[in-house]
Amino acid sequence: MTFSWTPHRFVGGALALDVANSVILRFDPEKSVDRFAVPEQLDSFCEAATRLSAERDTFPVLTAPSSSKHLIDLREATDRYFRQLIETGQDENNLLADLLTASATALKNAPAKHSLEAATARSVLNLMAGPNRARLRICGHCGWLFIDRSKNRSRIWCDMAVCGNRQKAAKHYRRKQETTS
Ligand SMILES: [Zn+2]
Repeated sequence: MTFSWTPHRFVGGALALDVANSVILRFDPEKSVDRFAVPEQLDSFCEAATRLSAERDTFPVLTAPSSSKHLIDLREATDRYFRQLIETGQDENNLLADLLTASATALKNAPAKHSLEAATARSVLNLMAGPNRARLRICGHCGWLFIDRSKNRSRIWCDMAVCGNRQKAAKHYRRKQETTS
């Protein structure tokens, strides 16, 4: 199956979130897909991120790691920490410690400015300490993490054109089913 890194895949609003969102339907083990499982897709992610990521000015060149282990550890720690932060509004000490450790490891192992691991770690730290932290959301349809930059902070979809419409279609379908039965 062909796959491409479209603008929709960079709706997170921060490189670290786009990396976390490289697992599709994380909440559904049967349908979940890890887009980083194929090494070539890591290279094409780096290329696309330099054009499409919200942080492309901060990270204008990115290179994929030769081994993805530290990147995947960092990605999973990123998702766990920020997801629970959004859900509960609280820092969970163990998850915070895991994420800081994974970030430090990524920075230590891949200090090159352009490495995807180091860039992701820097993006994580910016998110943790910066103003966007209060705007973090989980998409009501696909479960991706994103920054809500809307004026009244009311965005519930990562991408209205994709997830907003799918949710509407699903609702319409359910209503139709209810009327027929
Ligand atoms: Zn979504």
